[in-house]
Amino acid sequence: MFEKILIANRGEIALRIQRACRELGIKTVVVHSEADRDAKYVRLADESVCIGPAPARDSYLNMPAIISAAEVTDAEAIHPGYGFLAENADFAERVEKSGFVFIGPRPESIRLMGDKVSAKRAMIEAAVPVVPGSEGALPDDPQEIHRIALEVGYPVIIKAAGGGGGRGMRVVYTEAALLNAVTMTRSEAGAAFNNPEVYLEKFLENPRHIEIQVLADGGRNAVWLGERDCSMQRRHQKVIEEAPAPGIARRLIERIGERCAEACRKINYRGAGTFEFLYENGEFFFIEMNTRIQVEHTVTEMVTGIDLVQQQILVAAGEKFTLRQRDVQIKGHAIECRINAEDPFKFTPSPGRITNWHTPGGPGVRMDSHVFSGYTVPPNYDSMIAKLITYGDTRQQAIARMEIALSEMVVEGVLTNIPLHRELMQDARFVEGGTSIHYLEHKLSQRP
Ligand code: ADP
Repeated sequence: MFEKILIANRGEIALRIQRACRELGIKTVVVHSEADRDAKYVRLADESVCIGPAPARDSYLNMPAIISAAEVTDAEAIHPGYGFLAENADFAERVEKSGFVFIGPRPESIRLMGDKVSAKRAMIEAAVPVVPGSEGALPDDPQEIHRIALEVGYPVIIKAAGGGGGRGMRVVYTEAALLNAVTMTRSEAGAAFNNPEVYLEKFLENPRHIEIQVLADGGRNAVWLGERDCSMQRRHQKVIEEAPAPGIARRLIERIGERCAEACRKINYRGAGTFEFLYENGEFFFIEMNTRIQVEHTVTEMVTGIDLVQQQILVAAGEKFTLRQRDVQIKGHAIECRINAEDPFKFTPSPGRITNWHTPGGPGVRMDSHVFSGYTVPPNYDSMIAKLITYGDTRQQAIARMEIALSEMVVEGVLTNIPLHRELMQDARFVEGGTSIHYLEHKLSQRP
């Protein structure tokens, strides 16, 4: 087992990884930007290294600075968390070439899945159902593009092969709008992801976002740890996640879960990963695979009792993989609300000093957050400041506990989306379960 791990991230996930390390008896090195100097996990770390100024490109994306920090502190492995360099195959490669263990999949797997066109191809080969669309990247020939769109059937969605974070997508309803949308998405994708390649998919009108969590050892051992429903989204960004997904027959989920585990064996996938699907009319359609721990891994932990971050570390350390599919039993229900420092209905970011911070508690309440009273939310990063997770024997109980937890929570000094979450916990359609990915935006557009 490792003696010392470097955590190459910030915020709640840095603290989450640190907790996993401490439980396993592993020392932690935290790297941080100048803006995060006073963070809780920096103070709790065995060692910390400032790797640059606030802008992420100068600190959390600065590969040489992170690798040097591992060298000077004698860390053995690097955990990338999510975001930043977590799905950067070049980083994973440089970490390994410098003699450290990258806590994540092999660089080849990251590369394969990082390009959504090659990811879809790999899934087709592994018999995982995908959204119907162009086979591969769109060609340059306008006639050919028209032909593909007609064959798939409108509406279609143009997506960047290198896209991520809900960016680089454009829905097209009519033939007249097609070529312009392709051109615009290409140029945006070239600028944002350094890869102008785009592909086309059928735009599903009322799907749910259902994803399967997997864990694999890089060889023949792979298990799936149930599903999550992440349909409550705004601008393709998740707002609430839950496990299990309400109202879907277990046999359908089992069938797709088995396919995902089998796909992992086929590509010798190593570590934790997520297969994302759109689910409509009883069918699953793969959209992408994330080769990292996800924000919403917590709800899976609550219903399986398995610590996914510890599992990532055990797999990376080459410990014998003892988890079997029969050991994965889903029990109860968990919901996660992402608490963002933002205006709850206008969604403008609200960074600044938190003058008062009081977190909820009680049975079935979990709070993953690096925030404390007096903490300043820097304007430079993502606005998520906490994840509030509740667990119950039933979905109804998890919702009731979430309502109570949200009502107990006090945040002063910055605006948060807690009022939106409180409204959603009382929303009849949410309470019923099974809303589509468009539900939240539709609801928000109906507000006076
Ligand atoms: P990203 O990597 O940016 O998260 P995804 O491919 O995972 O991109 O898609 C993000 C979200 O965009 C999905 O959860 C869904 O809401 C929407 N989306 C993507 N593809 C489609 C599609 N073919 N039809 C309808 N919605 C889609």
